[in-house]
Amino acid sequence: MPHIADILIPLALDTPYSYVVPAGLDLEAGDVVQVPLGPRETIGVVWGVAESAGGSNLRPVTGRVGVAPLSRPLRELVDWIARYTLAPKGSALAMVLRLPDEAAAVETARVAVRITDKPPTRPTAARAKVLAVAADRALRGKSALAKEAGVSLSVVDGLIDDGALEALAVEPEPVAPRPDPDHPRTPLSDAQAAAVMQLSAPAPAEEGGIRPVLLEGVTGSGKTEVYFEAVAECVRRGEQALILMPEIALTAQFLDRFAARFGARPAAWHSGIGGKRRERLRAAVAAGEALVVVGARSALFLPFARLGLIVVDEEHEAAYKQEDGVHYHARDMAVVRGRLEGCAVVLASATPSIETRVNAARGRYRHVALPERFGGRRLPDIAAIDMRRDAPERGRFLSPPLVNAVKHTLERGEQALLFLNRRGYAPLTLCRACGHRYQCRNCSTWLVEHRFRRALVCHQCGYSERRPEACTACGTFDNLTACGPGVERIAEEAVELFPDKRIIVLSSDFPGGAERLRQELEAVAAGECDLVVGTQLVAKGHNFPGLTLVGVLDADIGLTSGDPRAAERTFQLLQQVTGRAGRGERPGRALVQTYQPEHPVIAALLSGDAERFYAEEIAAREAAGLPPFGRLAALIVSAAEREAAEAHGQALARAADPPPGVMVLGPAEAPLALVRGRYRFRLLVKTERNVDLQAYLRAWLARGPKPRGNLRVAIDVDPQSF
Ligand code: ADP
Ligand code: ZN
Repeated sequence: MPHIADILIPLALDTPYSYVVPAGLDLEAGDVVQVPLGPRETIGVVWGVAESAGGSNLRPVTGRVGVAPLSRPLRELVDWIARYTLAPKGSALAMVLRLPDEAAAVETARVAVRITDKPPTRPTAARAKVLAVAADRALRGKSALAKEAGVSLSVVDGLIDDGALEALAVEPEPVAPRPDPDHPRTPLSDAQAAAVMQLSAPAPAEEGGIRPVLLEGVTGSGKTEVYFEAVAECVRRGEQALILMPEIALTAQFLDRFAARFGARPAAWHSGIGGKRRERLRAAVAAGEALVVVGARSALFLPFARLGLIVVDEEHEAAYKQEDGVHYHARDMAVVRGRLEGCAVVLASATPSIETRVNAARGRYRHVALPERFGGRRLPDIAAIDMRRDAPERGRFLSPPLVNAVKHTLERGEQALLFLNRRGYAPLTLCRACGHRYQCRNCSTWLVEHRFRRALVCHQCGYSERRPEACTACGTFDNLTACGPGVERIAEEAVELFPDKRIIVLSSDFPGGAERLRQELEAVAAGECDLVVGTQLVAKGHNFPGLTLVGVLDADIGLTSGDPRAAERTFQLLQQVTGRAGRGERPGRALVQTYQPEHPVIAALLSGDAERFYAEEIAAREAAGLPPFGRLAALIVSAAEREAAEAHGQALARAADPPPGVMVLGPAEAPLALVRGRYRFRLLVKTERNVDLQAYLRAWLARGPKPRGNLRVAIDVDPQSF
């Protein structure tokens, strides 16, 4: 009987397609194959093989592809993601299956060519071009040489056959040098050693596999060094470790720190690495050669051969949530992958998310704590500046007490950081003559003035226009006003106040790209700067030993939104940024400008009573039936025409038919009602914890109206804002 294979194709398809396996081709689940699809050939993965009498109408599998098969845990992860997020299974597969491009294939050939002393027997113009390029005697890849000379590869091959070029096997520069778990290191403190013991305590044979661990430690407690030891143990066992970081925290400083501990840099995986390097790294991971990978969220889908540990650093970070394509949360997926692989998972944070805290409190996660800073350093003293009393002059943003504190800090030769989580110069520009406010033409957002670039920019879609001389609405000259501050404006004020100090603005707008920014961060760490004005870019993960004062310009910024997560987010961010102070020899302090010092978030920050704050937040979530005490999903309906989006949202709502325990709210305008020229309406689904949310959503969408034309319905299970 012929064999029928179910092949999953990495396109937006919900199920695998069936093909006949030609005689002589022996296929197993996980094999990567080529199959016909419509008029073309495509790549797919064998999801299952069965003997069957029928199938005479099916097309045959073309053949196997030279890519390592997908392991069972990875296939199970794809199934799990599709089931949980309601994304098409093929789209989930596409995240796992990044196929090598041709450039990578050339690279893995590991052949380089060099000129010899033998002249070619048959000189031609094309050959002369190649020899001219090769005359410097350098080693080059064959295709690189052909490309540089502007000839086809066959000319280079001809010269090799002729003996005018010689081909040499070369080892490519290793993508993943071997970390040495026993590289000499500074000793751990007693608290750290105890935490390491707890982390690696042989997990008692636990029901349902190894429990994940929450590693909670205040900023500067030495968490990183603790989980490095878990990584070292994993490497000693010959297993692979994955350290996930929010992209923003994935810095050279971290890679250097890893190198100081392990004698080699880890393999780094992030959106910036491309082409050949990406494919070589993937191959090294699949072969089990890359022992430690540090990466942003997509590293979660790498084909590890022997995964022994996943660390999720800064597990509370919102950046772990992917909000387009397949909507998934990398921290939650890490826990799932850990379970499927049977490996340990460590979630590290100074300010764990409510979800993770609740999981730890319920005993689903183990809890390991580092309550004190390393080396007897104290946490910074935090005080509020009540802006109702100590307001700055009109048009200024630094209050007199903060100016004073910065002045004294700089006079002592120490560093200060002024933190404002707003890029650019001013968040709103308006015309004093006619009141016109400058808004993005594609989004429901105000344009933000960027003075260095002399532009008005949309932070949502990137649209930008020159800042006009005359108002585009009424034509009046020189009457545009910048309303409110961004970091550039704070820096301007600081330069006036401290003209002889070295002041730098650090935000994701830093000119010159990631490399220049990295150098600048290093320079700050080395003390080559007195005052930093920065956004959340500098709030997280960095270590500036000379920094003793943090001034928070507007602690209330995040508190006014209607999002129930706003308090938690603001508290986490303020704890992180104030925690930058006093990490070196000298103690630090933080001053927080606020109009509402009695707000629970600010009060908790000042008193240092995080436990109480979280206890109240958790109680409030429980009372409201919000996650993790209930389940939540959002449907975002979008279209180029507002009416079409709204009408489709209403039609969906009419088909909702929620059973007991399920509530459907909306449609209402989404928090961002217009993005990139698309109008957005949102339906929220709230269910009790024991309801099968996915089953309900699937049934609803199956009976509801189908989106047509440019209408889209995006499903976001566990939305980050609600
Ligand atoms: P966290 O990740 O908890 O914020 P870190 O791991 O960054 O804390 O440690 C804080 C500081 O203490 C860093 O400068 C780090 O180099 C230093 N440190 C931590 N543990 C040790 C150790 N065992 N020996 C020497 N320095 C350490
Ligand atoms: Zn825009």
